[in-house]
Order: sequence, then structure tokens, then C-alpha cells
Amino acid sequence: MEPLIAAIDQGTSSTRFLVFNAKTAELISHHQVEINQSFPKEGWVEEDPKEIMQSVYECMERTCEKLCQLNIDISNIKAVGVTNQRETTLVWDKVTGEPLYNAIVWLDLRTQSTVERLINKAPGRNKNHLKHKTGLPISTYFSAVKLRWLLDNVDEVQQAVLSERAMFGTVDSWIIWCLTGGRNGGVHCTDVSNASRTMLFNIHTLEWDPELCRYFDVPMEILPKVRSSSEIYGWMVSSKAGSLAGVPISGCLGDQSAALVGQMCFKEGQAKNTYGTGCFLLRNTGTKPVVSEHGLLTTVAYKLGKDEPACYALEGSVAIAGAVVRWLKDNMGIVQSSSEIEKLAAAAGTSYGCYFVPAFSGLYAPYWEPSARGIICGLTQFTNRNHLAFAALEAVCFQTREILDAMNQDSGVPLTQLQVDGGMTSNRLLMQLQADILCIPVVRPTMSETSALGAAMAAGAAEGVEVWNLSPDHLPHVSSEKYDPQINSDESEFRFARWKKAVQKAMNWET
Ligand code: ADP
Repeated sequence: MEPLIAAIDQGTSSTRFLVFNAKTAELISHHQVEINQSFPKEGWVEEDPKEIMQSVYECMERTCEKLCQLNIDISNIKAVGVTNQRETTLVWDKVTGEPLYNAIVWLDLRTQSTVERLINKAPGRNKNHLKHKTGLPISTYFSAVKLRWLLDNVDEVQQAVLSERAMFGTVDSWIIWCLTGGRNGGVHCTDVSNASRTMLFNIHTLEWDPELCRYFDVPMEILPKVRSSSEIYGWMVSSKAGSLAGVPISGCLGDQSAALVGQMCFKEGQAKNTYGTGCFLLRNTGTKPVVSEHGLLTTVAYKLGKDEPACYALEGSVAIAGAVVRWLKDNMGIVQSSSEIEKLAAAAGTSYGCYFVPAFSGLYAPYWEPSARGIICGLTQFTNRNHLAFAALEAVCFQTREILDAMNQDSGVPLTQLQVDGGMTSNRLLMQLQADILCIPVVRPTMSETSALGAAMAAGAAEGVEVWNLSPDHLPHVSSEKYDPQINSDESEFRFARWKKAVQKAMNWET
């Protein structure tokens, strides 16, 4: 039996455990569990850290059961990789192992006033004041401001810091700490890709930066150790790891970095766009960080081994993509399931002049405007829920077009096709619409679990595991399907221009 590598994929809307063949990259078995999100106040988004771990254990257990049913020996699993929703912020007590507050999810807007205060401190009120070190603007999105909020507002967190019991981490750190023993000697670490989303990390020196920590007044003792994205961090010891106890955890990548690896975008200039809760377009810029002039982020993409160089990416982040579908389902009751939206949109075939800017969490790239709010415009007596469904999907495509344009301007070399993945890409109408609005082909791998594949590849290639060869000649062949543009570019430019007008209204809705 060929070696297998597993991956934990802890996303915003669900957790998955997936097992791959390390030679062919074939997905052998998997299990998925939805995660509850709570919205305690307007703009707040939280998840329960214990529920997150419970979902990880459940997915591992159920996948192992499925493997047994397939007569596959679990001992063939040689390593596990972790990929995760990025920026989401946790603090826990290292003595009791208990979380000290819910996880504050990346989309959460509670830190708007904290952000204003921090920007006021910057010379010239420049939100890009820390960009030269972090690659990021000061925004509600990143972990440091969420951590600042926890330190300011949660007594238990303050107390735990004073008594030297607090541990901070993004979701990867929480999962690895719990799986490697938790309060009984768990490993407190993160990787460079996750660290680069905190705003406390210097993306050039690849270390926590004392000056940044002072800026946010964050105690450095509570930060995890930063490691590469591919090395053995520790071994699963938890009794809840069941038959996987003793397996090394040897890959760790933020979900967007993992998708870049899983799509085999190892060369400078290669890019992918992932459509999940949000939408994230990353372009590999090689070993040099490139600073954007058009509202994109500079981020560490991956560092595949202790002694390997770090690779960087330019990133366009869109806060609301699949989340708009979830909103139409959960808040409006327009559809019963996310996949049903395709039927509605197909029935309409057009938005009939309706534009929907889902700026629920402000607007991220390229605008970075936290005060923007959602807007639906162009309604007539004729508009029905099918048109609205179409407009919601079209919004995802327009937002991608905006970041692709920014990326083409920054790099000077336009992308000639877009590689895509993520939960929403099973929607074929969306894929066709995307090709039409971008005026370039969209290519989707048949196996769309690319984040998990990327984490598994990183885990399998780690020193001491070495069952997955990442050299260019050994990359597995992955089959894909292609969507070519089917409308003329005048039509697509006309619709895009209308969309931009709607965006201006979303940004200035109060004036
Ligand atoms: P994440 O990694 O952020 O948890 P996923 O990649 O699992 O996200 O994708 C889930 C998101 O995609 C959800 O927001 C869901 O509403 C949306 N989604 C899933 N299937 C479809 C579909 N067929 N059409 C449109 N949206 C979908």
C-alpha cells in the first residue's frame, strides 16, 4: 500500500479531515462537519474553540472508520498537515487548557474603533504606516487588533496575561497545541504564513517584531513560536486522536497559502483564486516581497522547510463571497441550501439590472473601507428572488474582477487564465459568469479540495517524513475543467462599470 497523508482543513464554515495518496494526490476518504457561527452583536462574528476541536476529532474519527470500511490500514497515514481559516484569534489558559473567550473570526467588525485609535496614532493618520514591515494596512481584519480588543475588554484574558498563563494563537496554533497534548505539554507554534496575517510579524526578517508588538501593546511572551510550513512540530498524543495517536503533524499553512501549494503555483507569476466564505486571489511573487500600489496585501505564501527560503505572494482579499449565499439562505430564506442558488440564478439568466454589493464587513481589497455597508440597487417591480440570486453570484465575480485588475496593474503582466478552487466553485453557473466577467478562461481542478491537498503536500514533504516529493518533475497530474468567456467584452465592461457605480454608493451610503 502506498503511503497516505492526511490534512485537517479548518475553515470558517466547516471542518474537514481528508486522506490523500502521497504518490498520486488522489483523495481516498474524507469527512466534513459544519461549524456554528454566532453573531452576538451587529458586526460581531464568533466561533467556539471547543466546538472547533470537537469537529476536528469527529472528522478524524469518522474518516478513520471510513478507511476501515475500505479495508485500508490507518497505519499507512504517515503524517498530518493543518490548514486553517487565517487571522481568527484565540487566547487560552495554558494551565487549564480552557479558551478564555470565543474565537474572534476574521470577518468580525468589533474592532472598528480600536482601528481608528491605532490609525490616529500613526503619522499623518496613514493606515499603511506598518505596511513596510507587515505588508498589511491597519484594519479590523488582522489578528493584532482582535487581540488588542481581547486584552482591553476581557478580564480573564488580562488576568491570564498577568499570571503568565495566557497563550495567543490563530486556529492552527490552537489545533496543534490541543492535538500534541494541550495542557500536558502541547506544542505552541504557528507557521510563517499564518504569522504573516497577525500584523505582529516582520515579513522580511520572518520574526515577531518588538516594535510592532509595542505599537499594539501586545506582550511577546504569549505569542507562539514561528516555524516553517513544512517540518515536524510534534506528534498526536491526545487520547481523542484515537488510532492516529503517534502520527507526526508536519505541515501548517493558512488556507489561502495551502491552496496556492495545492494548485501547484510554485513559480513566480502563477496565481489562484479561492471561493469560500470570502474570496482570495494570490499570485506567487517568488522569494521577493512585492509592495502593491493598488490596495493589495503582501503576504508570506509559504516556507517549505526549515532551511528553504520563504516565498511571498500578492493577495487580493474579498470579505464576502460564499457568505452572501449563506446570508440569502440563513437570513432571507431565499434558498434552503447553498447549492440551490444555482437553480434560481439559472432560471433568471440575468440580474435584470439589479446590483448587489455585499459589503457586510466593510469592503476589503482594493478599497479597505470598513464603513462601507451592503447595498442592493436597480430594483424594479419586475425584480424577483431569481434576479437577486443572480446578482449575488455576479457580485462575487465583479469583486474578483476588481482584484484581478489591481493585480495585473501591480505586476504589469496580465494573467491569461485564472486557476480557481473552493466550496463555491462547484457552482458551474458561477464559473461561467466569472469567465465572462474577466474575459479570460477560468480553470477548475476536478478535485477542488486544494487547501487540504496543499497542507498534505507540506506535511508529506517534511524532513523526517519525506513521502511526498515536491520537485517540479514529481508533481502529480491533476485533471481540470475549463470555462471560456462566452459574452463579448463590451457587454462585460458595461456591467462592470455599473457595478463600480454601485460600489461607490455602498461606500458613501450615509452621505
Ligand atoms: P470556507 O473554507 O470559508 O469554510 P468553503 O470553501 O467550504 O468555505 O465554501 C463554503 C462557502 O461556499 C459557503 O459560504 C457556502 O455558502 C458557499 N457555497 C457552497 N456551495 C455553493 C454553491 N453550489 N453555490 C454557491 N455557493 C456555495
